[in-house]
This record gives sequence, structure tokens and C-alpha cells, in this order.
Amino acid sequence: MRAMKTKYDVLIVGAGSGGAILGLLLARQGIDVLILERGSQLPNDIRSEILQPNGQKILDDLGILNGLPEDAVYQTRQFDFFRIGKGRLCAFDYGDLPSPYNVALTAFSSSLHQHVLDATADETTLTVLYGAVFKGLMRHGKIVTGVMAEHEGQSHEIRAQLVVGADGIGSAVRMALDISSQVHQYPEGYLLGVLDRPQGFEHRSRYYIGKGEILGLLPVPNDQLYFFYLLPNMTRASLDAVGFQRIKDAMEEIDPSLIQPLKQLTHLDQTIFRPCFRVRAATWVTDGAMIIGDAAHAMNPHISQGRMQAMHDAVVCSRVVQDCLAKGDCSGSSLAAFERERRPHVEMLQRLGDEQTFFWNSRNPVVQFAVDRVLRTLDDNVRLRYQALTATAGLRRQAPFSLTDRLVAVGLLPDWWAKTG
Ligand SMILES: Cc1cc2nc3c(=O)[nH]c(=O)nc-3n(C[C@H](O)[C@H](O)[C@H](O)COP(=O)(O)OP(=O)(O)OC[C@H]3O[C@@H](n4cnc5c(N)ncnc54)[C@H](O)[C@@H]3O)c2cc1C
Repeated sequence: MRAMKTKYDVLIVGAGSGGAILGLLLARQGIDVLILERGSQLPNDIRSEILQPNGQKILDDLGILNGLPEDAVYQTRQFDFFRIGKGRLCAFDYGDLPSPYNVALTAFSSSLHQHVLDATADETTLTVLYGAVFKGLMRHGKIVTGVMAEHEGQSHEIRAQLVVGADGIGSAVRMALDISSQVHQYPEGYLLGVLDRPQGFEHRSRYYIGKGEILGLLPVPNDQLYFFYLLPNMTRASLDAVGFQRIKDAMEEIDPSLIQPLKQLTHLDQTIFRPCFRVRAATWVTDGAMIIGDAAHAMNPHISQGRMQAMHDAVVCSRVVQDCLAKGDCSGSSLAAFERERRPHVEMLQRLGDEQTFFWNSRNPVVQFAVDRVLRTLDDNVRLRYQALTATAGLRRQAPFSLTDRLVAVGLLPDWWAKTG
């Protein structure tokens, strides 16, 4: 860590995916950047994620993707969908996507992110200060001119031409900017954990949908299998009351290949429960400051695009910020180019995430019947399947289905453009 100065070109709060990649991109243009990160240097989380094709391209452009060690990511080609107790519905094959990003990479979030943080260490104009907490904004009139922060028990005032809030769902920067926003917590979150990988998951994932029940199984590096199991929001005490054994029994019943691996899980402490949120902020830019990533637009993890979109923000933001710094104009109206470019794509994904939550998490038999029909149609219909896959892969900006497509998907209209297979 380099010594902290009291003035920088850009100050970023949060060294998550959005903040770290933005810092890296700006520093590579010779811009003087400070990132304040309240956490410790080594992220540690058993959560795994899918690095979608759009995220792979961003890391490739940064020269990070090819430098990832072989045991950092696992290549998954196929995602098989099942109705619990009733069998297979549909399969999505990433091999259908254009090369070279025609695979999903699954990885432990913290180890993947560590590689991004490692890359920041090589940049001479970038300082990442760990254990540093954002405390408030400095202003001149309405213009943001810097932040107040606490580090190792000391208060600091740090000035910057631009302050970026990349500080996640509960963003303190968004609150300090007084940006009107809706933070919605979905009624369900996920119990997450890691098991030894049984046979049958070689480059394939399984996704089970039931009556208000979801179990996802993703192969991850080191011969392990990551699971996520949908549960209503719960405190640790109520999870204990449900009984870990009951959850394990339910998982074994859904996929009997888990019987042996689940024996390793003897205590709830080997898992974590993660709630899910959506954030809608009225604006992402103001005079001298902006917000990116989950701080601006967290979305339901069904769409598996939250981290990818934080990275996309960083790419667009770095371009806009370079222009603004060159003109000496970091006013809200100059920074608005960022929001204009990013908001439509992000809002489309948020809507898609909400639709999937409504349909897939449902306990209603009519809704479940419709879901099964749609997934079975997608299994046969190459055109509609490709549209759905490219949305999840982050490769399309428009909603995957028009009204006609939806009617086709539920079997109410024939598909005149269909290719089957
Ligand atoms: C169960 C689950 C599964 C998911 N799966 C996927 C997936 O498969 N693919 C995908 O793309 N996305 C996935 N996501 C979403 C993804 O994790 C987030 O969208 C992504 O991490 C957002 O990145 P970010 O940089 O905006 O925020 P964050 O990653 O939250 O980073 C914010 C950073 O700011 C720091 N910070 C916060 N407050 C302060 C402060 N006051 N001072 C200093 N620092 C501060 C935090 O310590 C943190 O490091 C999933 C989310 C969940 C809950």
C-alpha cells in the first residue's frame, strides 16, 4: 500500500468488482485513484458465481482472464433444468454462443475477485486502502469535493475531482448523496455451501425447480460442487429451528447423487444464508459524484448478472470519467452520459430477474404449469432458447421475448420462425 495523500483525481468507495475494475481502468490511463475498502485485504466467501460471457470479455480485455490459474475457474457447457420429482424440462448449451466466450466459467467469488485485486497492485497511480471506512461527503455548495473517512482509528479528509460510490447494496455514498431509492428485499434468499463433487457434473450444472423450492448445483474448481437452496428469509435462530437435517433430507430427495457428499455437511456453520435485494436509484450521477454496481442497481441473482453489470458499469464509467477529467467538468450533466448508456440494459435485466423470481419461486400450480410449458418449448425451439441464453450470458440489450414470443413459449401460438432441435 502506498502512503495516502489528501488529494486524488478520483476517489472510489468500495473495492468490489465494480470499484476494483474502475480503479484499474482509470489507473491504466495514468489517472490518480484512491479506493477506500472497509474490508480486509483477502476476500473470503464460500459463495460461487458464474462468470458469464460478457464478464469474461471484460476480464480478457483487461488481460486478467488468460492469467487465471487453471484451478481458479471451472468450465461449464450445459445447464440442465428439472421439475422436482418430474424430470428434465430443458437444457441450455453455452456452446451455442459465439466463440471464444462460448462457455460459462464457475468460480469461487472471493478467489476470482482476488485475481482482480492482485492486478490493481501493479498500478503506480492506484492506491487501495483496506480497513478504510467512508464516513461522509465534503461539499462546496452542492458540488461534492471529497470524502471523510476513518482508517486505523484516525479521521481523514480526502479531496477528489470525482467521488464514486461502488459500495454495494446498502451504499452509504448513495445515502449521503440523498439519492431517492427503493431497496427491495425479496422474500427468499439462498442457503449456500460446497460439497465434494459426485459423478454426473462434468461440465454440466443442474437446476431443480419445485413448489416454492429451487436447488442449483454448479461444478466449481477443485472437484467441488457448489449448491444454492432457496429458503424464505430467516435468521440464524430460525434456520436452526427448521433443522439442518430437514434441509439436507430435502436436497437428497431432489438429487440422490448428493446423499454421499452431504454426509460431509454436519453443521449449519459450513453453509451461509444470503438474502437477495433489488436496488432502484432515481439517478446515478450528481455534481462531482456517481454510483455504480449494486449501489445503483442490485438485481435478483436469478439472472446471474449482478457482478457482470458492476464490471460493465466500470468500463463505461471509466470512458466517461476520462472525458470529464480531460474537460475539467465532472458536473452531473457531463457524467450523465454514463447513466444514459447503462440504464436501459440494467433495467431490462432487473425486470427479467423479477419475472424469473415470480415464475420460478412460485408455489402456484398454474404458474408452475406455465413454467414447465415454457421450458419444454425452449428445449425444442432453438430460436427462443438462444434468445433466453444470450440474455443470461449478458450478450443482448433488449428483452429476450416479445409478446408474440411469450405466446409461442406457452404454446398459444405456433412459431413461424422456429428452428427446432
Ligand atoms: C446469492 C447470490 C448469488 C449471486 N450470483 C451471481 C452470479 O452468479 N453472477 C453475478 O454476476 N452476480 C451474482 N451475484 C451478484 C453479485 O455478487 C453482486 O452484484 C456484485 O458483487 C456487485 O458488485 P459491486 O462491486 O457493485 O458491490 P460489492 O461486491 O457489494 O462491493 C462493495 C464493496 O464496498 C465495500 N464497502 C461497503 N461500504 C463501505 C464503506 N462505508 N466504506 C468502505 N467500503 C465499503 C464492501 O466491503 C465491498 O467490498 C449474486 C448475489 C447473490 C446474493
